[in-house]
Amino acid sequence: MARDLTFLSATELGGLLAAGQLTSVELVQTCLARVQAVDGRVHAFNSYDEAAALVAAHESDARRAAGQARGPLDGIPVGFKDVIAVAGQPLTCSSRMLANYVSPYDATVTTRLKAAGAIPLGRLNMDEFAMGSSTENSAFGPTANPWDLSRVPGGSSGGSAAAVAAGELPLTLGSDTGGSIRQPAALCGIVGLKPTYGLVSRYGLAAYASSLDQIGPFARTVDDAALLLQAIAGHDERDSTSFKAEVPDYRADMAKRFGPWRIGVPKEFFGAGLDPEVGAAVQAAIEHYRKAGCEIREVSLPLAAEQAIAVYYLIATAEASSNLARYDGIRYGHRAAKAKDVVDLYFQSRAEGFGDEVKRRIILGTHVLSSGYYDAYYLRAQKVRTLIRNEFAAVLKNCDALLSPTSPTAAFKIGEKSSNPLAMYLTDIYTISVNLAGLPGISVPCGFTAAGLPVGLQLIGRPFDEAGLLSIARHYEQAHDWNSRHPNL
Ligand code: GLN
Repeated sequence: MARDLTFLSATELGGLLAAGQLTSVELVQTCLARVQAVDGRVHAFNSYDEAAALVAAHESDARRAAGQARGPLDGIPVGFKDVIAVAGQPLTCSSRMLANYVSPYDATVTTRLKAAGAIPLGRLNMDEFAMGSSTENSAFGPTANPWDLSRVPGGSSGGSAAAVAAGELPLTLGSDTGGSIRQPAALCGIVGLKPTYGLVSRYGLAAYASSLDQIGPFARTVDDAALLLQAIAGHDERDSTSFKAEVPDYRADMAKRFGPWRIGVPKEFFGAGLDPEVGAAVQAAIEHYRKAGCEIREVSLPLAAEQAIAVYYLIATAEASSNLARYDGIRYGHRAAKAKDVVDLYFQSRAEGFGDEVKRRIILGTHVLSSGYYDAYYLRAQKVRTLIRNEFAAVLKNCDALLSPTSPTAAFKIGEKSSNPLAMYLTDIYTISVNLAGLPGISVPCGFTAAGLPVGLQLIGRPFDEAGLLSIARHYEQAHDWNSRHPNL
């Protein structure tokens, strides 16, 4: 009987490659066959370049045959959210604005993955310019949740999450500005990690809100997330916010950390709006740690809970209005066919190129930065951001990690929140403050609702303590088998 590789972890696949029981070409072909079988229904992919992937896979197999394999990722396909540059591949940000744009260069994460021998495979769907929580804001149509095709996969990295959950790819990259890795990971029943701000280079990531954006991994296991993080983390002189820190060997470090840990549970993250089934699954995870001898402490994060959404939508929109100014039909992006003069060309190009949510954010961001409003909105938001950061720093002095739900509900129906921006914004209530504070956060599967929808557990760590955070997440993962369940597609 033919082996079924569909839901194997990257670590397992790497083992088969190393043992000579699988070739990268076979693996890439298996992924492509799965994409062809299911992606018509899931729509995780915006595009993929079969020929380029197979060339890279052949090269990987040749290296291995010559005894020159580059490590655990050599020959493993990795998908990219369509906001991260891969030379010669489309980079659309799921926007009409960039529908025909092909990247002339590699992002730093891409360069590093190629150097590790990974095979870039596919451009994954997302909310336009990473603005959203459901992947419904894509100009190319929504992605469906593999567990229930009538529901959203979360967002904005919904394609990256759905591709892993649907068995199309073992690893993908997403970006997280306010929750866009952790929330779709939770809604799709996989692992998603947002690194500490500054750990992973943003060079070659189309900017949404530069002080919040981070690239991070989606995977089937915590170990796999560590593997992918290892390849992309570390200082880059091309990103001035990239931190000069030694990157530890995450997997070796994780193997040495057994706890018991001090885990803080922010009481405000369990209040109104939390779905009871999600709450119960997260409570059970708290019991797991308590039984393992961890000290569970109730902590309080009032500002993070009450002010984070408002602060985020002032800062993120302000930064977005500036970052997206370059898409004017001249320097970048769609150019309107008919225009009276250059000013009209800007207007028409931007009117035609951007979708409604992106326009809403640009208008809000321009407003909060305008003279007369700057002090009242933007400056004040920055001050509250500092207070939120301090609030987290204070509780993390006495806790190794914080624990909460990732998202207040399991996956919602396609269309359910799309006409109500505020309801959509609230789906990030537990993730958004982590970006404002620049901290690392991970979502791991922690159960299913009665309807069979995945639930995610969020763990928040200390700055640059990804190894600690991954260890704590893996402790839970190893005692449960949620990641052995797969959607029926
Ligand atoms: N949902 C949030 C927003 O729309 C966060 C998105 C993200 O993390 N990219 O801005």
